[in-house]
Amino acid sequence: MWRRPPRPEGEQMALIRIGESLHCHIPSVQVSARRWLTGDTLDREAGQRHLRQLVDSQVAAGADYLDVNVDDFLTDPLVGADGTRKLLAHVLDMIAEFGGVPPCIDSSDPGLLEFGLRHYHEALGGPYTPLINSVTVNRLELLQLRAKLPFAVVGMLLERAGEGSDDQQAGFTDIADASVYHNTARAIFTAAREAGCAADEVFFDPTVGPLGADMVGYTKRTFEGIRLIREDPDMAGAHVVLGLSNCSDGLPRRLSINRAYLRVAMEYGVDAAICDAGQISGENLCDARILKLIRTIATGEATDALTLLVEYAQSQPRSPAPPKRAAIPDPFGAALADPSKRVFVLELAPAEGSMDQIIQFAEQARDTDWIFTITDTPGGNRTPGPDTLALEVARLSERQPIMNLSCKSDDRNALIRRALALYHQGLHHFFAISGDYPTGGRPVFDLDSVSLVMALDTLRRGIGFPDLLPRPGGALEEMRIGAAVSPFKYKEADLIGQYMKAWKKKAAGADFFITQLGYDVAKFQEFKLWMGRAGMADTPVIPMVYFLTPQFLRILNRVHVAGAVIPEDLKRKFQGRLGSKQDVKGGRRMSFGELADHQKRMAVRRAALLSHILLDGLGYKGINLAGISSLDDARAVRDELDSLGGRDWHESWEEYRDADGQRPMDFSPVEDAFYLLPHGDDGLLLDEALLKADRSGYTPVDARMQKLHSRYFEPDKGLNGLLRWMVGGDEEGFRLRAATLFEQAMKTSKLGCEMCGDCRISDLAYLCPEPTAGCAKRLLNGPCAGADLNGGCEVHPERRCYWGRVIEAQLATGDLSALQPLQPPKDFSLAHTSSWRNEVQGSCPEVFDVGRLPDTALPPK
Ligand code: SF4
Repeated sequence: MWRRPPRPEGEQMALIRIGESLHCHIPSVQVSARRWLTGDTLDREAGQRHLRQLVDSQVAAGADYLDVNVDDFLTDPLVGADGTRKLLAHVLDMIAEFGGVPPCIDSSDPGLLEFGLRHYHEALGGPYTPLINSVTVNRLELLQLRAKLPFAVVGMLLERAGEGSDDQQAGFTDIADASVYHNTARAIFTAAREAGCAADEVFFDPTVGPLGADMVGYTKRTFEGIRLIREDPDMAGAHVVLGLSNCSDGLPRRLSINRAYLRVAMEYGVDAAICDAGQISGENLCDARILKLIRTIATGEATDALTLLVEYAQSQPRSPAPPKRAAIPDPFGAALADPSKRVFVLELAPAEGSMDQIIQFAEQARDTDWIFTITDTPGGNRTPGPDTLALEVARLSERQPIMNLSCKSDDRNALIRRALALYHQGLHHFFAISGDYPTGGRPVFDLDSVSLVMALDTLRRGIGFPDLLPRPGGALEEMRIGAAVSPFKYKEADLIGQYMKAWKKKAAGADFFITQLGYDVAKFQEFKLWMGRAGMADTPVIPMVYFLTPQFLRILNRVHVAGAVIPEDLKRKFQGRLGSKQDVKGGRRMSFGELADHQKRMAVRRAALLSHILLDGLGYKGINLAGISSLDDARAVRDELDSLGGRDWHESWEEYRDADGQRPMDFSPVEDAFYLLPHGDDGLLLDEALLKADRSGYTPVDARMQKLHSRYFEPDKGLNGLLRWMVGGDEEGFRLRAATLFEQAMKTSKLGCEMCGDCRISDLAYLCPEPTAGCAKRLLNGPCAGADLNGGCEVHPERRCYWGRVIEAQLATGDLSALQPLQPPKDFSLAHTSSWRNEVQGSCPEVFDVGRLPDTALPPK
């Protein structure tokens, strides 16, 4: 007897089902297999998860074997024979590890069949007898392996037994009559028995042809052939198997046809099917009309199968193809694709008072090259939502804007819904940010900006987030994802936090960056130099040039704008308090009108100078002009910038930094400002070794916590057994409750734990990220840009930024590697349960390994 695992009691079915879901001819399976074979880390993980899901689902549905066919890759030059074998071995490994059923190794390539067979037996110890699919009557050599490597075998009946005639490779339309199936089966059966196969280790596949192409009555002949085989007492015990899905090729309602076809085939003696075990049981209810149709074709009573099928197909309702929408022009996408092109972005911030103005901008911009970026309720205020406005702007300006998506008020579902709606209406560019803390209402921050970038990237790849399984909507390939970065941080940990987070965003799928508000050229330069060391030199960065006016400075005095850094010297310059004696005096004598003109000219000049330095000197991709209230101002900046064309950018830098004709302006907003690179005499940075700050005040990672954690959580070590016992009891039982209360008592007092059930402290310097004692925005992948110059949190300035503490702890410990994996969003279904239990059971989401930041980009230890 061949060894197939017994079916559980009460689940005896007449039909042996060979789950076909791992057949790489199925497009979604092929995509996942290719991801696993050739993709990056995320693709590999996504491919693996899907393949694993297919194994699990087919086994859960009761499949007796799992068919694995990777033949499509044999002819793929990017994969080749070695890649194909690697894939086959991997799927066989998974089936052996998670399936608990034998594989059906399916290939038309005898070498691949032998490889699979050897791998299953020799590398995996061959827990069950695999099925080999297939041999043919003229290609029986594989049977010689049977003695050493046991297998059951599928014999294809498509060929005639004969000696070397040209028509050996006959198609099903050429099979003369049912007796040919029978004779071929007998020849295969005899050879298989001689090779050592038991009778029930032989499966015959008569090869089902598509019903819709049956012009010669092959369905009838196939069924008659099956009957002849089953009636032959010499072949008692052998099976007849159908590759079921072929029968319905090209027809509507394929599943109903497959089920009915199988029912009729079983009446003729079929007892096995290669099928989706989740959909086919052999006992499915069948559509009576389709059943009748197939019986009619099988018995040949009707005049013409084709006519019957045409009638059937025409009776099925078909929905008309939806009209195609005209694509919205995409100059931004084109500029991103072309390294030589610059982009000029204009930031529009919807507010109740500015809606008409934005519409006017969009209309006036038609004959310009500005790209709009539309902010998502900046400042956390209840400003008009940007989505519908963006569509209107796109329509009026005849180009796609960049849509901001922030995490403050929308959870992952809402953000993905918004992105999907906008994408399918033709807007493909998104700028993912954590967002300012909302005023009133509930701060959501389900995702942070890194996981939002990743969520968008998964849409682009055609996989779901965060499960990474294939999405029914497929890949949104035109999507482009932007992310924010602020180099304007002057404490070491806060700066490292920004840069490390930028690297994570890039690893998560960001295509471009936009910097936040700042005027310190050395910091702009620092980020670009650091990007080169981090392997990100080719990623376009669009720096924000905020149109600084006295009005904006007055606003800044009244309201806190998170993360905005304006050097004192610059403020004084705009307020007329810094400049040459002559300028300061002259300013005092001006009338209001003259002063306004002067300040506007200064704003335009300074914006143009900064743009010139950034574009020509520091190699930025373009400019994001923000704080503009009229298109005329934007035009004036561009005209001024054009007027600097041909000038050495160093001259612009000298002019930009001049304070009063005697000394340069100081752009560092604090005294002990930290820069990652040393300054040169010209006020710019030198591309030398990275610097480190005085770290004597940093609190290192709690070594006791670290040790305790490893003793309890490292498998089969120390107290891991005790922990497993503590949390391993009955769900409602005393032991687990006591363990949960104990966990709560320990972690609440020590860490401010909120019992989220999905603990990340071991990855985050043993500091809880939840708001009670951690990050007000629950950010899991690095700091927002909102911390103030003292490192105080944007939301609770009296507290040190949580991420500042985490990074200081890691810097003091000399190892930033724990912070580099990408933290997935929390699983809210685990809230208020024991994270110890969830960790032990493996139910917490796994971090995504996105590689390692190059050492050249890491600060010295
Ligand atoms: S703790 Fe840090 S990262 Fe979190 S909200 Fe405050 S400033 Fe932002």
